[in-house]
Amino acid sequence: MDNSTHTQGFSTRAIHHGYDPMSHGGALIAPIYQTSTYAFPSAEYGAACFAGEADGHVYSRISNPTLALLEQRMASLEGGEAGLALASGMGAISATLWTLLRPGDELLVGTTVYGCTFAFMHHGIGEFGVKVRHVDLNDLDALRAAITPKTRMIYFETPANPTMRLVDIAAVTGVAREHGITVVVDSTYCTPYLQRPLALGADLVLHSATKYLSGHGDITAGLVIGNRTLIDRIRLQGLKDLTGAVLSPHDASLLMRGIKTLALRMERHCRNALQVAQFLQRQPAVEVLHYPGLPSFPQHELATRQMRLPGGMLAFEMRGGLAAGRQFMNALQLFSRAVSLGDAESLAQHPASMTHSSYTAQERAAHGISEGLVRLSVGLEDIDDLLADLAQALATVE
Ligand SMILES: *Cc1c(COP(=O)(O)O)cnc(C)c1O
Repeated sequence: MDNSTHTQGFSTRAIHHGYDPMSHGGALIAPIYQTSTYAFPSAEYGAACFAGEADGHVYSRISNPTLALLEQRMASLEGGEAGLALASGMGAISATLWTLLRPGDELLVGTTVYGCTFAFMHHGIGEFGVKVRHVDLNDLDALRAAITPKTRMIYFETPANPTMRLVDIAAVTGVAREHGITVVVDSTYCTPYLQRPLALGADLVLHSATKYLSGHGDITAGLVIGNRTLIDRIRLQGLKDLTGAVLSPHDASLLMRGIKTLALRMERHCRNALQVAQFLQRQPAVEVLHYPGLPSFPQHELATRQMRLPGGMLAFEMRGGLAAGRQFMNALQLFSRAVSLGDAESLAQHPASMTHSSYTAQERAAHGISEGLVRLSVGLEDIDDLLADLAQALATVE
């Protein structure tokens, strides 16, 4: 096989990309560079690094060899030129937006976003002169009508947390390109195994790597991937000067460990979630169910076209609303009542009082988050045990 032209598969790159044990004393696993600073061979070399004329590491708030390997690997998996690792998903989001937006700029945001992202936009950057507006990005006429000469960025999640509504990435980037607007996609729910926004025209894809990418619920981390010019700017402004949201080298190593099994885990998450969705769909106590893998999901065709598999997340409402939902959650024994998602452990949470409580009740109503919605992150346990837990919890409500 001619290795110079053959593109390795997803899992091979998730395990090997960018690392050769033979350059590291044979160490199979990449070393953790637990260092904050770097020695320069000469004063002139140090000066050249600071001037951007040499590309050595100078300080770990800017770059670190362990993080560099993670960044290179994730860039390969997302199909981007360069990546940047940060201390959390919110670190990635805030560093990116602080870098690319200025007072007077307009930011168009999809209907629903994660609660802290909503808070950052409305109570963070929105209070520093950036005009934030939500648009239904599935309505391209509404999107075109919302664009002005000051529109600098379009930002969305697909599927959106917690409503599961999808956005057609190629359609939105097509409109954005006509106007030279930067498109940023939060792809946390999908990971590059299920969806690759850059190939569909997005400029930047970002992740809460705390979730599926880590997959083990033991770190917080964030990533942003895109072209080198944008990533260099976010590194040298958003990370270095504006947020300082640095990922530790040890957590970068744990994150690379998680990414090695990403394809295996996503296959299992999606298989379990589909069976959970099919089970819930048959329950009379379940009034509304949102899962992209069901033919009854309004955007099922888009899900099939845009995502390799329908994901491990779902949301539903019980007949009897919030009270019934709380009763159901309290009866769960195997599912943990916890926020976050993408862990081996199955999790249940109530967005209105937990992850999306930074919205006011009126804002939740306007952004499509109903008060009774329950969100499940379906884990990696045996499906029969998950279904048995859901069945006994539902039985306590009926
Ligand atoms: C959790 C989450 C975030 C925030 O990430 P942290 O790692 O918790 O800072 C952003 N976007 C989405 C969709 C999330 O689920």
